[in-house]
Amino acid sequence: MLEVNLKCACETVKGKTSAISSKMGNRIICCCDDCQAFAQFLGQEEKMLDQYGGTDIFQIPVSFLKITEGKSEVACVRLSPKGMYRWYTKCCNTPIGNTFGAGGPFIGVIHNFMDNAQTRDVDLGKSKGHILSKFAKAPVPENLKGSSLSINIRIVAKILSWKLKGLNQPSEFFNHNGEPTCKPHVLDKKS
Ligand SMILES: [Zn+2]
Ligand SMILES: [Zn+2]
Repeated sequence: MLEVNLKCACETVKGKTSAISSKMGNRIICCCDDCQAFAQFLGQEEKMLDQYGGTDIFQIPVSFLKITEGKSEVACVRLSPKGMYRWYTKCCNTPIGNTFGAGGPFIGVIHNFMDNAQTRDVDLGKSKGHILSKFAKAPVPENLKGSSLSINIRIVAKILSWKLKGLNQPSEFFNHNGEPTCKPHVLDKKS
């Protein structure tokens, strides 16, 4: 278990996770079209996405993430009125992570915000694989694909246990009334 330092590219926004490990979180590479659209929105496709268009994400309880500096630079976008809350820093468009609403106990922290590019596999374990590869930009080799069934079971089990433990609070992203800490900018993908 170790605490991972968090920072945006320009180092205005900084933070830290609680002690985490490969066992307690889920590391996946998400190839879905919405994660790709988020990268495009930020103009960060080169830094965020791998050659298949996948985003390296580590899911942890939302209360395990603390922002210690630069909170006023945290911003939020939703790709549609009911889409996930996608958090980023407006100082330099570094992605932070994705959450559901206030009751949701997890955040999928995006690799760019974790200051562990060199030690990521050691810190967090190897990813469970690429998921939603039907949206990938290039065919994902079979050996890199995660088993969606076992990944889904693992994610649902974690989320239920984090929910039972009340790990959705305290949150940097939603206050006790369940309101987001900054007003999300809502895009309409269809327009
Ligand atoms: Zn920044
Ligand atoms: Zn995705």
